[in-house]
Amino acid sequence: MEDNTRFYQAKDMARIASAHCEGCGECCRSMGESIRLDPLDVHELTLHLGRSFSDLLETAIGLHAEEGVILPHLLMKQEQNEEACFFLDKNGRCQIHEFRPGLCRLFPLGRDYDGTGFRYFIVEGGCGKTDKSKIKIEQWLGISEIEPYERFVSDWHYFIKETKEKIAHIGDMAKTKKINLKILELFYQTPYDPMRNFYLQFAMRLKRSERTVFNQSAPGSE
Ligand code: SF4
Ligand code: SF4
Repeated sequence: MEDNTRFYQAKDMARIASAHCEGCGECCRSMGESIRLDPLDVHELTLHLGRSFSDLLETAIGLHAEEGVILPHLLMKQEQNEEACFFLDKNGRCQIHEFRPGLCRLFPLGRDYDGTGFRYFIVEGGCGKTDKSKIKIEQWLGISEIEPYERFVSDWHYFIKETKEKIAHIGDMAKTKKINLKILELFYQTPYDPMRNFYLQFAMRLKRSERTVFNQSAPGSE
């Protein structure tokens, strides 16, 4: 990030909207494991596709390790000479546009975490199109409840950051594996009730994680 990087809040306007998005799909190709999925992304995918997390794991979702923490990401499929997102159709359109993951909504923005929350910035070289117009960031994201959403994004980021730090100190493969299995089970595998507010359910699980995820790594505990 450059020193003169400009930062934005959700209510700010940013020059990021391209008229060429439809059918372009450039940012949906050759992304490797970089489109990470948070618990809300997986909740939305399982809900709208009517498939469980375990079921999607065999097709659209992969798992990768980040500093000892196992997290899900969107899988790419081989398409002629390049990789393309599992959900990109042959016309370059997203088949799950209405419930696409948070990182897909965000592009070409990034998030800069300052220790307590985050702010947005435009990723240098993120989208090569030059015809961009200004749009309010919350409108670009297309998220209806922006405040609880941003709180969730922030809480999840700092939870994962803290988990990475804890895992680095544990240095025990068996305990690390148990912690990862618990995180996947608590936040991804166990379905959220679609009739209840997602953010409240997430907050309760986050609170519970201290006891159910980390206590097991204490000496002598199960
Ligand atoms: S953001 Fe840019 S790269 Fe992505 S689909 Fe739109 S125009 Fe294409
Ligand atoms: S989910 Fe949709 S927007 Fe996201 S990478 Fe796949 S095709 Fe592109």
